[in-house]
Amino acid sequence: MTTILLVTRACHRAAQWHAGQRRKGVAAEPYVNHLAEVAALVAEATGGSDPNLIAAAMLHDAIEDAGVTHAEIADHFNPDVADLVAEVTDDKALDKHVRKALQVEMAPKKSDRAKAIKLADKTSNLRALAASPPADWDLATKAAYLDWARRVVAGLRGTNAWLEAEFDAAAAEVERVLEAELRDD
Ligand code: ZN
Repeated sequence: MTTILLVTRACHRAAQWHAGQRRKGVAAEPYVNHLAEVAALVAEATGGSDPNLIAAAMLHDAIEDAGVTHAEIADHFNPDVADLVAEVTDDKALDKHVRKALQVEMAPKKSDRAKAIKLADKTSNLRALAASPPADWDLATKAAYLDWARRVVAGLRGTNAWLEAEFDAAAAEVERVLEAELRDD
């Protein structure tokens, strides 16, 4: 499969698999916007040098949030893309608090490519939190999310300085928004 075919098919499949899903924020953006943002971030971060990584970024939530299997991804794409998606997938059988703690614990043990997807994912999520937070999240919930994202990312550092800077900028923006909210209370 050519690079163009691989990435185009990943975009198309992601749009189909996540059709009807929306982000949690008040703007309720189509979920595929998040996937495209994560894919664009890893593509920029790697200068477009790793097509499987870009496809995996586009598909990174397919197992976790769309019920797609590793075998289906391997079948539609290739085993490397499927392995990368699996590497950034939480075990949904576990309690949410356990999953969040595991993300912090497991982050340093991930491959450099999985770290890139996770950094881009957390960057996209913090940008969304700053621009369009979920309506039912109070200040403490938002602050706790920012703190958790920073603890996960602490274990992802040392692989891609550009992505880390994008994350840091997003985290600083959330902090500004939260401080402004605190002053308005
Ligand atoms: Zn995601």
